Amino acid sequence: MPTILDGRKIANDIKKEVAFKVTSLKDAGKRAPHLAIIICGDDSASHTYVGGKINACKTVGFDYTLMQVATTISEEKLIQHIDNLNQDPDIDGFIVQLPLPDHISVEKITGRILPEKDVDGFTNQNFGSIVTQNPLLLPATPFGIMELLKRYEIETKGKHCVVVGASRIAGAPLSLMMMQQGLATVTVCHKYTENLEAHTVSADILIVAVGKPGLITADMVKEGAVVIDVGTTRVDDASAKSGFRLKGDVDYDKVAPKTSFITPVPGGVGPMTIASLLMNTLRAYEMRIS
Ligand code: NAP
Repeated sequence: MPTILDGRKIANDIKKEVAFKVTSLKDAGKRAPHLAIIICGDDSASHTYVGGKINACKTVGFDYTLMQVATTISEEKLIQHIDNLNQDPDIDGFIVQLPLPDHISVEKITGRILPEKDVDGFTNQNFGSIVTQNPLLLPATPFGIMELLKRYEIETKGKHCVVVGASRIAGAPLSLMMMQQGLATVTVCHKYTENLEAHTVSADILIVAVGKPGLITADMVKEGAVVIDVGTTRVDDASAKSGFRLKGDVDYDKVAPKTSFITPVPGGVGPMTIASLLMNTLRAYEMRIS
């Protein structure tokens, strides 16, 4: 039987550690770290994710500011909000919840955030800091996955890690982190990879970040592999109260018995992403104070 990598439990452990530091700061007469979140429009999934981030701030004792802007906001106006947050001495870090409406360039918006306040770790400088081995604020989802592996004491050094998906926020930074910090031998697969299975089946550690439920089937996984499923897709489910449920990229029921460790969806990578956001905000605060 595999060990389930319990992202909720580890994220709760991290929240306790962050809360302890915040209490110590307050006891020493200092202010709490302050996270701001800009959310654009009324996409229900985005509001759910942001709700989770606000609850996490409340749990650890961070100050937080939620800025709701209309879907029709101009790119120029959104940039003004970012500039204001960049200059606000009371804000330690902030994020702009994705996705953004089509008329707004994600590259332009994330590129405008000061790297030292970029607690999602999306800016070019923070992305690049992975390879300079002097990380500032690491991309939140990959950071959370590395932390999960570390806390379960899963050896990555010298292992063959196959990352499926090469996006700017998940697969690409993760593959660099597995190489630089994890000292793994890394293969990156993407949409144009031929014969995906030939790669995945040789993975000691298989990390999938695509957004296609059921992409990874049991015959694509090596016996005893560690499997990390980043995929989070809403699929209709009339039996669920919300009318949907979340599905990962891995065919969990069939794949899990072959693995040594596996993340569930939900409850695996998702909570770790929020925990990373908290760790990055605390780090941004500490860098500013020092
Ligand atoms: P994305 O930007 O759409 O990237 C998906 C990546 O997979 C791209 O590199 C894409 O290639 C590649 N791809 C598409 N089809 C493929 C295939 N058949 N085989 C191999 N690679 C393929 O998505 P993302 O933002 O990285 O997110 C991926 C999934 O992870 C989504 O379900 C998302 O909701 C989830 N996610 C979860 C968290 C969390 O905290 N739990 C965080 C981030 C993302 P092209 O670029 O060439 O199309």
